Amino acid sequence: MISCFYGETKRRSKKSSISSSEGVFTCPEDNLPLDYAKIYPDPDAEVAIMGSVVYCIHYKEGCKWSDELRKLQGHLNMCKFDAIPCTNHCGAMIPRLVMEDHLLYTCPKRRTRCEYCSRDFTGETLENHVGSCQLEPIYCENKCGSKIQRRHQANHRQHECTKRLVPCRYCQKEFVYDTLQIHTAKCPRLPVSCPNRCDVLKIAKEDLEVHLSDHCTALTLPCTFKEMGCKFKGTRSALDQHLEDATKPHLLLVCGVVSRQQHHINALRTTLQGLTLNTSGTLLWKISDYSRRLAEAREGYELCSTPFYTSQYGYKLMATLFLNGNGAGEGTHLSIYIKILPGEYDALLQWPFSHTVTFILYDQTSTVDQACNIVESFVPDPTWKNFQRPSKEPDALGFGFPRFVSHDILKKRHYVKDDVMYIKVKVDGNKTIAV
Ligand SMILES: [Zn+2]
Ligand SMILES: [Zn+2]
Ligand SMILES: [Zn+2]
Ligand SMILES: [Zn+2]
Ligand SMILES: [Zn+2]
Ligand SMILES: [Zn+2]
Ligand SMILES: [Zn+2]
Repeated sequence: MISCFYGETKRRSKKSSISSSEGVFTCPEDNLPLDYAKIYPDPDAEVAIMGSVVYCIHYKEGCKWSDELRKLQGHLNMCKFDAIPCTNHCGAMIPRLVMEDHLLYTCPKRRTRCEYCSRDFTGETLENHVGSCQLEPIYCENKCGSKIQRRHQANHRQHECTKRLVPCRYCQKEFVYDTLQIHTAKCPRLPVSCPNRCDVLKIAKEDLEVHLSDHCTALTLPCTFKEMGCKFKGTRSALDQHLEDATKPHLLLVCGVVSRQQHHINALRTTLQGLTLNTSGTLLWKISDYSRRLAEAREGYELCSTPFYTSQYGYKLMATLFLNGNGAGEGTHLSIYIKILPGEYDALLQWPFSHTVTFILYDQTSTVDQACNIVESFVPDPTWKNFQRPSKEPDALGFGFPRFVSHDILKKRHYVKDDVMYIKVKVDGNKTIAV
């Protein structure tokens, strides 16, 4: 087809047209080249075409208009679905149907008013204003849940917000406002009154313990000698005065305690001796610090062994030693004696005491077969009164050897080695047996 109608081609220009490419026209129907010189207006066809019935070009959007083609342009000038430039000159093409909405709500050139501050804006400037309007209520950024006008936010966060940080007035540490009360009740610096109602007005809770133990002037304290039996109680200052005044009664109390303790110690010592009692009839006596003890012996000191029994229910004996000699041996010899002490079973034993007593001084040489021990024994003389049953007073004389061994011999061999001497006392009860 080579004849075309202008009006028709113009109206359908979006879909098809006589197109030109480098001056050559093609038919919109079959794309064959057209000769421009052969195109001409055709009034008969125009009448026929313009009389054809068509739908509105916005049929798909919902316009139901349908009439002759010649009336289409007139309809489009009123069609609700046809787009026209925004009457507010924002430049947008808007279908008539939604122009009212556009002018009211979306046109950037529309006149509008901020719902919070009521100031007038164009659509464009309102967009900038929203988000900064000082009268707009917004949620507190501390998440306290309050909705406050933007202009009051700073003041709210500083003075009213329940989530603001505030310092504890006592310890100065910072707390979220709504937890402050809980903290205050537990704050270690909370001022409290002294329970003794002393002259100190308020004390930080954490300091109360030290105050009560060390500083409170109203506290009643027991006397320092309470354990000794003093019943005094008073304030710190009254106690100081009492200690000044009561020296003598305090001293008496202490004496009483010392004496009771002494009794107690004696009782314990007796019990202890009972537990460690030697009932073998043999005493091995180690004398340490020989040179120091010899020097002491020159001043008259006597060394006493621990007491021992001749058997479990036998005689109670004790050896005594004069390192610098005694009697006939004084200054030249070592003297050794045995003493009979009042024992637990004396009432059942035979008197006079008649066991053989042997003293042995050991030679501590390293080769035992060459040792030359010094041994002396005696059989008690039944006529001597000290072998009778002893009285309660254990100050009876002993029996033994004032010249047991001379100082000269002591210096030889190894009787004293490493400043130590060993003496054995052996009591032989074969002849007389305890009941
Ligand atoms: Zn229409
Ligand atoms: Zn507009
Ligand atoms: Zn506003
Ligand atoms: Zn808040
Ligand atoms: Zn605090
Ligand atoms: Zn106090
Ligand atoms: Zn006292």
